[in-house]
Amino acid sequence: MGYHIDTGLIIEKFNTDCECPLCEIQKIVEEQFLHEFLNDAVMEDNTRIKVGTTGFCARHFDMLFSRPNKLSVALQIATRADVITPMLGEVKNAKAAKKLADKIDSSYTSCVLCSYVEDSMVKYYKTIAQMFEREKDFYKTLVGLKGFCLHHYAELLRYSNCAGFMKNEYVKILSSNQSRNFERLKGELKQFCDKHDYRNANMPLGDAETALPRMREKFYGKKID
Ligand SMILES: [Zn+2]
Ligand SMILES: [Zn+2]
Repeated sequence: MGYHIDTGLIIEKFNTDCECPLCEIQKIVEEQFLHEFLNDAVMEDNTRIKVGTTGFCARHFDMLFSRPNKLSVALQIATRADVITPMLGEVKNAKAAKKLADKIDSSYTSCVLCSYVEDSMVKYYKTIAQMFEREKDFYKTLVGLKGFCLHHYAELLRYSNCAGFMKNEYVKILSSNQSRNFERLKGELKQFCDKHDYRNANMPLGDAETALPRMREKFYGKKID
């Protein structure tokens, strides 16, 4: 199972009017993995082993469960349950209990889907930096963006070295765009707040109407069910 970077998807989503194009890309990447886990991947030994050793986080369990193929989910959860069973045997002493507590606590937060999605997203962060270095006009696309959510902005900064000899220019453009758009959104949020003053009851809100959910997107990323 693998995911190949689609630069066409980067261009498409970077030209979409949204608060974070990387959230839009991540949504598609995640859907593809969910689809694979509900179909072909369940048959692959490799994936079954990874599901056994890592399991799913609650969010991905719910996402898998909300889709039609329940048998596929059940088979994978059964594999994971077999791996967890030995952790639930008799505990011999208090020292072992403490150690086991940590192991049990991490058993329901580790997630094979989270790690697959993250691995793919890292490829996107790197590719975007490389596109900035290699494609003459890509900076215009970056300048025209409405910024990113905090997590994806941080990841782009983290992998900015991949822009090679253009890395300093890259972070300058990224940061000035992020800061400008954060100010824009703050302005819209203020407009939304001001509207609640009775003196501004007739003030047209325009885009500021949705400032709060978009600020949520800017802080935490796009909400995906
Ligand atoms: Zn995002
Ligand atoms: Zn997960």
